[in-house]
Amino acid sequence: MRDMAAGPRVLLRRLRELMAEALEPQERLDRIVREIASNMVAEVCSLYVLRADSILELYATEGLNPGSVHLAQLKLGQGLVGTIAASARALNLSDAQRHPAFAYLPETGEEIYNSFLGVPVLRAGRTLGVLVVQNRTMRQYRDDEVEALETIAMVIAEMIATGDLARLTRPGLELDLSRPVSFSGLPLNDGVGLGHVVLHEPRIVVTNLFNEDTDAELERLGEALGSLRLSIDDMLSRREVAFEGEHREVLEAYRMFANDRGWVRRLEEAVRNGLTAEAAVEKVQSDMRARMLHMTDPYLRERMSDFDDLANRLLRQLMGRGPEALASLMNRDAIIVARQMGAAELLDYPRDKLRGLVLEEGAVTSHVVIVARAMAIPVTGQMKGVVSMSENGDAIIVDGEEGRVHLRPQSDVEAAYAEKVRFRARRQELYRELRDKPSETKDGVHIDLMMNAGLAVDLPQLTEAGAAGIGLFRTELQFMVAATFPRAEAQERLYRDVLEAAGWKPVTFRTIDIGGDKVLPYFKGAGQEENPALGWRAIRLTLDRPGLLRTQIRALLKAAGGRELRVMLPMVTELSEIDAARDIFDREVRHLARFGHHLPTSFKLGAMLEVPSLLWQLDELMEKVDFVSVGSNDLFQFVTASDRGNTLLADRFTPLSVPFLRLLRQVTRAGTRHETPVTLCGEMAGRPLPAMALLGVGFRSISMSPAAIGPVKAMLRDLPLDLLTALIDETLDRTGEHVDIRALLVGFAQEHDISL
Ligand code: PEP
Ligand code: MG
Repeated sequence: MRDMAAGPRVLLRRLRELMAEALEPQERLDRIVREIASNMVAEVCSLYVLRADSILELYATEGLNPGSVHLAQLKLGQGLVGTIAASARALNLSDAQRHPAFAYLPETGEEIYNSFLGVPVLRAGRTLGVLVVQNRTMRQYRDDEVEALETIAMVIAEMIATGDLARLTRPGLELDLSRPVSFSGLPLNDGVGLGHVVLHEPRIVVTNLFNEDTDAELERLGEALGSLRLSIDDMLSRREVAFEGEHREVLEAYRMFANDRGWVRRLEEAVRNGLTAEAAVEKVQSDMRARMLHMTDPYLRERMSDFDDLANRLLRQLMGRGPEALASLMNRDAIIVARQMGAAELLDYPRDKLRGLVLEEGAVTSHVVIVARAMAIPVTGQMKGVVSMSENGDAIIVDGEEGRVHLRPQSDVEAAYAEKVRFRARRQELYRELRDKPSETKDGVHIDLMMNAGLAVDLPQLTEAGAAGIGLFRTELQFMVAATFPRAEAQERLYRDVLEAAGWKPVTFRTIDIGGDKVLPYFKGAGQEENPALGWRAIRLTLDRPGLLRTQIRALLKAAGGRELRVMLPMVTELSEIDAARDIFDREVRHLARFGHHLPTSFKLGAMLEVPSLLWQLDELMEKVDFVSVGSNDLFQFVTASDRGNTLLADRFTPLSVPFLRLLRQVTRAGTRHETPVTLCGEMAGRPLPAMALLGVGFRSISMSPAAIGPVKAMLRDLPLDLLTALIDETLDRTGEHVDIRALLVGFAQEHDISL
């Protein structure tokens, strides 16, 4: 047996030469398996490739019957080869025929071979085929031989991924890699996007697989690992993560892994076998991912996923995903595909080519999703396996309405979606035409349609959607997308930009509403709470951390110099909280005045009505504040005692019910009695039918996501409000039998030809 240490290097050099030669694909493959067999002193070397119909087809062989190429085939899970493909694990057997999974394929003539080494051909954790060597003698292949064959399998994976073998497929029998795949998951932001995959996590390209100089490459790897460790230490020592918390734990785990000897050894070994440092990282990452896919223990999966993140970081260090690389990927309609992503990272992509976002993880409340919503791009989440199934440049459709993704769609699916996009565009066009028409009901009642916002990216929507102003500016979003607490100057700058963009239109800022599900990684908060939604959050938290509130209030007062400032408080439970917040405002006003600052011309303080306790002190509330804004998302969850994020309860209870509408009517009536303006800024306001109900119970101002303004305006311009109010009043005043409010409203809309 030849010394294997030099083996893979020599072999990789030969493979590189073969790749560069002008050969027909079959010829190239035949020569590759011949080289492998001779280099590894094996009598047989065969390559099986996974087809779209889950069959492993023999694509090339040295040693087995050449007539069986493209004829011999095994199902995924069948025989040794099928087992390797299904488990993504190598099999190293000295007596293959005694293995329970052994399946004899008579056409290949393999019965005379005893020892067998097969490795999966993996790319990004996904199996594309199986590479096998066999010998007559009964022998156990050494670990370095397994490693060598895996390294070569990686090169073959690149060949398959770059479409080299596509010409060898028979019509109708496509490779698994180019198979159209559909995924179902969560719809996270409405809209439909067609475009091409841009993988957020870097993936290496075939040109830089082989190293020229092992020592130099080991040095590169060492340096990259060194700077990776330094950057983690640096992140850990920063003041904002200096306290305990989840973020810190993740970083600690990264630090541990970055020093993990097993990981580093595997990387170095791959480089010694002839790969470049980045190819080595991808190889080790790919093995890890493949194992992760077959792992059920959630803790271990989580740890593996930390390793995966770390490998991505290391790849970025090595490859430095330069602006040119990104620019070439982003030069046409792009759909970002990622396992998960930080909110700020999404903002790094050029907005004009972004058509969608697909996440393997992700939930309605993920920060990146909040940002994507603000940017009005369709998003889907919980798309298991989408990253490893995708290649940069693959055609892809994201359906944020249904929560579906179609990768490499067939032409009929693509045509259907293109039609859907055209239909949506026509509807948008209609809404745009409505933009400059008065926001008035059919019987002439003016309604203020405001928009919800939270980031600078939202601002262009103010004019595009034709909103009357910003009814809710969620200031916590700036805190959520940042890596550390935004400084006072950054807060002031954002508020100033918002007010400038709004011009004469009113803007209502809400003081930071963190806690509950809005977690800041750099802020410890209350730690693990049993009921976070009922916990230390919003105004409760900021009154206990007055420094936080004071800084924000000062930034708001300074930003609004010379104009009106409107601020509201989230999650008010007792009226004394409003007094406490007002005290802080007064103190800040005095402070700024003393230093000669330009102050707002007027100041309006409002409360959000989200906690039911306020319902029994409505008169006192209306007297105390300048305005009230109903946060129907939270109010509804507390009134019905049902978690707003729990999908099992999502359709169980509806705000379109007699009790909830009675409650809302009570609020608008209290507002009228005290001449205190009342508005509503929860999701209810953003759908035409519930919005119609809101107008029916007395709201004359509602605030919603900008995309909802068009449809709601279309509805209200058809609406005879006096008739609706009479119908709703009559229904709510009646006691006795159950009324299906939704059906009642749909009937009313049909009768009066109201567009919903
Ligand atoms: C609400 O609760 O209705 C609301 C508008 O606030 P958020 O959704 O930010 O909790
Ligand atoms: Mg709320």
